[in-house]
Amino acid sequence: MNKKFYITTAIPYVNAAPHIGFALEMIQTDTLARYHRLLKEDVYFLTGSDENSLKNVQAAEEKKIPVAKLVKQNSDKFYQLKSVLNLSFNDFIRTTEERHTQGVQTFWKTCQKEDIYKKKYKGLYCIGCETFYTEKDLIDGRCPEHKTKPEIIEEENYFFRLSKYQSWLEKLITKDQLRIIPKIRKNEILAFIQRGLEDFSISRSVKRAHGWGIPVPDDNQQIIYVWFDALTNYITALDWQNNGSLFQKYWPADVHMIGKGISRFHTIYWPAMLKSVGVSLPKEVFIHGYITINGEKISKSLGNIIDPFEMVKKYGIDPIRYYLLKEIPAYNDGDFSELRFKEVYNADLANGLGNLVARVAKLCETANFKPKNLSNSNYTGLDKFLNEYRFDEALKFIWEKISEADHYLDDNKPWLLNGNELSKILQNLVQKVQEITNLLTPFLPETAEKILKQFQGPKIKAENPLFPRIK
Ligand SMILES: [Zn+2]
Repeated sequence: MNKKFYITTAIPYVNAAPHIGFALEMIQTDTLARYHRLLKEDVYFLTGSDENSLKNVQAAEEKKIPVAKLVKQNSDKFYQLKSVLNLSFNDFIRTTEERHTQGVQTFWKTCQKEDIYKKKYKGLYCIGCETFYTEKDLIDGRCPEHKTKPEIIEEENYFFRLSKYQSWLEKLITKDQLRIIPKIRKNEILAFIQRGLEDFSISRSVKRAHGWGIPVPDDNQQIIYVWFDALTNYITALDWQNNGSLFQKYWPADVHMIGKGISRFHTIYWPAMLKSVGVSLPKEVFIHGYITINGEKISKSLGNIIDPFEMVKKYGIDPIRYYLLKEIPAYNDGDFSELRFKEVYNADLANGLGNLVARVAKLCETANFKPKNLSNSNYTGLDKFLNEYRFDEALKFIWEKISEADHYLDDNKPWLLNGNELSKILQNLVQKVQEITNLLTPFLPETAEKILKQFQGPKIKAENPLFPRIK
């Protein structure tokens, strides 16, 4: 039986259409899914939409449309990223679906009895984050993520006994039984755990939730906290609630791909919740950074949201995939600017890859050359980068091969040769292009397919440039 590989993205709030920051996570995840499929693993790639958030209710109220309508509209836009960004996900779960609702309620009921209790609570709540903050978490009295003042909220809620899991979590993460990549994030999480974990509220009054969300089992006055609900998507989508075959086959997750703003939920709450219900834990959590736009945080109020739909229309899918994977450092924040995008496009895609492919194809066409015994499906060298989620380094490694091939071409001057000498050089060049193309497949699938077609036919012909230069 082939090795299985289960990979997930976070499920975004659908209070607005997707922006380029989420495109990054989707493309990173898609690249890994494609890579593991090339290794003949049995891959399951899950994404979806988080629809039970209070933010969705507020967005719908602003637009004066029913919440269900708003979440459907925006969820559809996230789903469309599949074709827009050429994503290969296997399933897309909406948390308003019946399968999820049922799963969450089963999850709640399966938690150890002593882990869920009711208490009166007063706290500072950021709706943007859907989380309570303590005074010490705030910066100048404001949410560190949203820079807004949290609301003071007092009500009786259900709580999850997270404090019970403190030393267990500390050991789990220290020993990499739950591996957090990169290390800097692992250390942040460990420091957070060591400051002491408090029980967290896992329900809201129906009134505060505006009646939207999944009801607490056997209590129609309370709605399940949106994070407690959303996190379980990773198993409800596999039909855990019925011990379904997908769950048996694919769980535990090999990796959850997430952004740094939600690392606590995934590396502290989620493992503790799973432990409580007796489900095995995910193996790894990869935490990517944020994208800034021209050096500024992406925000609606700054009006600097970059629409992935428009970018793809303008420049094509693979140039966007390339920029996000290569120019955004895998372990850090990175910047997107259209100026830099054009520079990178011209240097690496039009000149680097595109130019090499065009030169080799033209030489083969002129010489009427037919390559033989091409090596297929060799992905050697990518493992050490992709096992560590170094998408940027992996692409640098491939681009070194492109420049080596360029040098080989320039040094051997095949245009001055003929006969066996020419054939030998062309055979080597075609092999190099083939190797580069294989390595590129998980990153730039459409481009790789085009190049393979061009070089696999009975006759190699010059074609239109893969990446016409942008002025
Ligand atoms: Zn916030």
